[in-house]
Amino acid sequence: MRFYRPKFQLAALQPPQDRLVSKLGGSPWGFPQSRWSTCNDCGHPMSMVAQVEHAPPMIDIGVSGSVLHLFYCANLLCMSYGNPSSCNAVILTCQEIGTGLTEQPLNEDGERVVNDEVWISGWDTHDDIVTAEQIPSFYDEQIYTRLPEDTAHPCDVDLAWHTKAGGVPYWTGHGVTLDRAYTPCPPFELLLQFHETVYLEGEVAIEELADTSINLYQHDNFGQVSYCVNFANLGTGTGFVFIDRTANPPLVRWHWSP
Ligand SMILES: [Zn+2]
Repeated sequence: MRFYRPKFQLAALQPPQDRLVSKLGGSPWGFPQSRWSTCNDCGHPMSMVAQVEHAPPMIDIGVSGSVLHLFYCANLLCMSYGNPSSCNAVILTCQEIGTGLTEQPLNEDGERVVNDEVWISGWDTHDDIVTAEQIPSFYDEQIYTRLPEDTAHPCDVDLAWHTKAGGVPYWTGHGVTLDRAYTPCPPFELLLQFHETVYLEGEVAIEELADTSINLYQHDNFGQVSYCVNFANLGTGTGFVFIDRTANPPLVRWHWSP
């Protein structure tokens, strides 16, 4: 299956944002304040996890100019914390997107959790060994557990491969997330998945981040040093985003799991 890996830049090292940029974390660009997602359980304004433009073939949300927004409840005391019900997806048309960054509303304690921000600066194209005929196997726990290891976990060696768009879900961490309450099945398809630890492109000027609270660290892979940032708290896990393109407009659901 073909899939695409985003390249990330740390927003803190970029010029101030002056236009729509596909990104993880941070504040959304031009998002109407009145549309901000609130947790159904605890009532806290949710934190933004992603704002991603329609950019086929990597991100195909059906309509040119539309923008996908993912939110989740970051309140650790929320009874729905970590449940799909505390994750929300909002697709807006380009006409609904305004200008300027939209600040997350404060919760009742006057606080907010804003995730660290990385911009998507490009994409790499890859193909794994999974065939189109094997796609349904990734949505059926019984069949999935009988897949050969290198098919079930095509790129399991490195966290960097847990963030990708398209193809089949690379189930991660503590096992398969095929709980029907969590995982939409076909006609839903994987749109995007992202580990809370994302890898940055190239060298990072660490000294310029001295005054920030950004959770940046170096990863040494056989002498090749790369820089990572834990952009959000997903229980050291991965967010899985699914889309049903047979619906009009397309339906998006997402959840995260350790
Ligand atoms: Zn909540």
